[in-house]
Amino acid sequence: MIAAIRGTHDILPGEVEKWQYVERIARHLCDRFGYVEVRTPVIEREELFSKGTGETTDIVQKEMYSFTDKGGDRITLRPEATPSMVRAFVEHNLENALASAKIFAMGPMFRYERPQKGRYRQFHQFDVEAFGIEDPAIDAEVIDLAWSLVTELGIPQAELVINSVGCPACRPKFQEALLAAVKDDLSKLCGDCQRRSVTNPLRIYDCKVPADQAVIDALPHSVDYLCEPCATHFTAVKGYLDAAGIPWRQSHRLVRGLDYYTRTTFEILGQTLGAQNALLGGGRYDGLVKTLGGADRTGIGFAAGLERLVLALPDAAPIAATPRAFIVAIGEDGRTAAWTLLRSLRRAGLAAQMEFDARSVRAQMKRADRLAARVTLIVGGDELARGEITLRDMVTGDQHAIAHDAIVETVRTYL
Ligand code: AMP
Repeated sequence: MIAAIRGTHDILPGEVEKWQYVERIARHLCDRFGYVEVRTPVIEREELFSKGTGETTDIVQKEMYSFTDKGGDRITLRPEATPSMVRAFVEHNLENALASAKIFAMGPMFRYERPQKGRYRQFHQFDVEAFGIEDPAIDAEVIDLAWSLVTELGIPQAELVINSVGCPACRPKFQEALLAAVKDDLSKLCGDCQRRSVTNPLRIYDCKVPADQAVIDALPHSVDYLCEPCATHFTAVKGYLDAAGIPWRQSHRLVRGLDYYTRTTFEILGQTLGAQNALLGGGRYDGLVKTLGGADRTGIGFAAGLERLVLALPDAAPIAATPRAFIVAIGEDGRTAAWTLLRSLRRAGLAAQMEFDARSVRAQMKRADRLAARVTLIVGGDELARGEITLRDMVTGDQHAIAHDAIVETVRTYL
């Protein structure tokens, strides 16, 4: 047997219905909020991520699946969606091509991480991005979409965490304060934090090492260093969230691992997920479009992990299978009649199946049970000669004869 690669997984029937349910709710929300779908390639030029995601991030430094293709180009399996979405926005001038540059995508991402519950090497994101809108109302809309996703899925005990990391004007002062505060305790922090203090000091806030937490909790808060426009923006975002009745908690620890964030950052955490508790995360990235060769346009978005949304679904999520009919054929005549009936039902938009290999009536009834068929239609014998079939209600066990030309409409009332 050749097994699937570590950190990847097959999504099998039984599980896939949950995925379809999550995807359906996500698509429906985007439709209501005015976000349109974009499908970008899984492979991109490596430099899209080294420039976009950022050279100092863990993703670029340690986690990318990159290779040289036969033409000698450096190619990367996308580790996240945002850079590709920005590339597509710039490359196709979506600002003009779309009525409003609000887009979403869904698909697999690849990161060479240490696999554990909720963390995989191939995983799937639902990604939402809005370009070119400065007003804090768009921050609130994007957060509202994220919050609506989690609440409409019925995920219990979800928590929205927000922060503002400022902009290129005010962040240097904050970084200076951070480095000054860290300096004295640097030798007490873990090796990763010591490395981060040189490469990307903001990442120190992401550290999960228990012994480091007291020091990190006492580090400066980015919101205390915001310039006037950033502070006003953040206050307005919180005002919109309050007006919408969306509960939030502010955390100075939420700086997020990517280089491009400016101003608003947010995450929604799930309480039932264990260590990998972030259902989704995002924020504003006002410099990224320009960095990737576009005009100076703002951006804000988030990415939700589909695996984690599926893991966090409540048991009672309404993932009902399509009700279907099963046709049991008796004898050779019955089989031909069953085949034409099967086609009539399907052409009428109903879900129907039959057993193709000739089997005993008992074996066919067993199959109907396994398929959880709502009704079984028994075709053959005397009834066939009379132009009738027998309908068995699989819930009550009641059986009765139906005239041939009334079958489709009668079955429809059950499904
Ligand atoms: P990020 O792009 O790192 O901000 O992640 C956004 C969301 O994607 C997270 O909140 C997770 O839900 C999901 N995610 C990120 N990395 C992984 C992974 N390795 N496995 C599963 N889900 C992930």
